[in-house]
Amino acid sequence: MISPRRAPGGFPVVGIIGGGQLARMCQPPAVNLALTLHVLSESPDAAAALVVPSAPVGSHLDVGQVLAFARDCDVVTFDHEHVPAEVLQALVGAGVPVHPKPEALLFAQDKLAMRERLTDLGVPCPAWVPVHDAAELAAFGDLHGWPVVLKTPRGGYDGKGVRVVSSVQEAADWLAHGEVLLAEECVPFTRELAVLAARSPSGQAAVWPTVQTVQTNGICTEVLAPAPQLDPVLAAKISQTALLLAGELDITGVFAVEIFEIAGKAGTAPSYVVNELAMRPHNSGHWTIDGSVTSQFEQHLRAVLDLPLGEVSARAPWTVMGNVLGGDYDELYPTYRHLLARDPGLKVHLYGKGVRPGRKIGHVNVYGDDLDALRVRARHAADYLEGTVTE
Ligand code: ADP
Repeated sequence: MISPRRAPGGFPVVGIIGGGQLARMCQPPAVNLALTLHVLSESPDAAAALVVPSAPVGSHLDVGQVLAFARDCDVVTFDHEHVPAEVLQALVGAGVPVHPKPEALLFAQDKLAMRERLTDLGVPCPAWVPVHDAAELAAFGDLHGWPVVLKTPRGGYDGKGVRVVSSVQEAADWLAHGEVLLAEECVPFTRELAVLAARSPSGQAAVWPTVQTVQTNGICTEVLAPAPQLDPVLAAKISQTALLLAGELDITGVFAVEIFEIAGKAGTAPSYVVNELAMRPHNSGHWTIDGSVTSQFEQHLRAVLDLPLGEVSARAPWTVMGNVLGGDYDELYPTYRHLLARDPGLKVHLYGKGVRPGRKIGHVNVYGDDLDALRVRARHAADYLEGTVTE
């Protein structure tokens, strides 16, 4: 394997397992902070491998490869949550500082473990139950009402591993696998929110303003920062929940809490339940690259190294992030040239990925005073790059 070259002056090497876009977006702040990244990449042309000089190809599933990779790192962190527990334990056993720690990461890897722990902590969650067979699912549905949201506890992303079922029969194929499932009440939420926070090993923590995430076909397409018209009492409760989770779960690094907002009945205050946790920089935090004094990627590096955290206030009243999905063409450059000319205030972030229809290939940020106008600009840019509008 290629060894990373440490910057002169005693600056550390941060190892990232996984070479996706999150690892890629850590590179600009790493350059500015004089930190060296060392990325264990899935392939030589993964998003991060294209911009990080030291990006050996290896598998996060292979203990030997991960341990060899970690020998060159001062700290190891993650681009994704799919590193198995035994690999994480081997790292810890070898004395490698790992952030977030496996005990915390579990709550992002396993939705059943997360539900149990959050319920113990008194954090609002949808009604839920582990389901092993048809009888347990039927009993839960009859008690809490159909449809029921059924989830595979592990391995889900972008809505895969989540299914809304109106009867036991509709879940027959999943139940046939014989593996435990998570059943949840179908929450009548008014919108989805997310709160992003960071905590360092010595316990310093910082929380960004809560944002609204807009999903289309199970994929986040737009983020509004901060969440418009969010009740201030609810906003404070959500921030406190993020801080509570950071401390109680001993989370280190940047993490996100995905939340459902529920309207209050007959003029009462709105409430919330937690959907899930992500223990890494998160799509709902991409707005921070341009819209916050400290981006989530810089903050993650600072947090895992136990450096003082950066300020998390917004640079403008509003920032809107639009995810760019791939269209059915691959010549992006001419389109992008046009877009830069059309909207000089637009900040474009592309991940260097090959274009495939529906694949997340980048995002755009715009910030300013007029939320409606920002939404129009972000939407247009994303649609234009996707090829669904041509003017
Ligand atoms: P993933 O791990 O794929 O991100 P999530 O648990 O976030 O899966 O669920 C994906 C989407 O499914 C959510 O964004 C939300 O729209 C919907 N969903 C998930 N859980 C519930 C629930 N209990 N009630 C209503 N909708 C839900």
